[in-house]
Amino acid sequence: MSCRNAEQLARALPAGRQTRQRGAVLHVLVDCPDFVSAQQLHALITADGIGVGLTTVYRLLRELETYGQVDVVRDDVGERLYRIRPFGRHRHYLVCRSCGRSEPVDADAVEAWVDRIGEAAGFDAIEHTVELSGICAACRTTTPPVADEGEPSCR
Ligand SMILES: [Zn+2]
Ligand SMILES: [Zn+2]
Repeated sequence: MSCRNAEQLARALPAGRQTRQRGAVLHVLVDCPDFVSAQQLHALITADGIGVGLTTVYRLLRELETYGQVDVVRDDVGERLYRIRPFGRHRHYLVCRSCGRSEPVDADAVEAWVDRIGEAAGFDAIEHTVELSGICAACRTTTPPVADEGEPSCR
């Protein structure tokens, strides 16, 4: 199933630039249930024994973002985290600044507001980014994490 998704993703990008390395990045990315940074993704791919440059990973993630195939959030130090957008539909997430867990949120009101603003101003194809972050219930009930425990997991 993940293979088909990776191929669908590849088709959503401009043709002619598909390499084995890029294919490998897509395969690993579709298997990540949580948001990952370019560096984490690069580490996972390298762990699979595939030689892919970090630049290739960054470039591919930017392309996926441009073509609306990933959701992007920022962690507490401003690093961009990526996750494949399920069914190609744009979503918003509430991200825990402590453990990196993300929850999709109902943002129909935001979407309706964006449409209304666009229409009123005569704009089309409006893009928007809404970032919501906080501390999740699980993290609030445990002791404060040490500095480097804020990494989102990717299993
Ligand atoms: Zn948390
Ligand atoms: Zn939205």
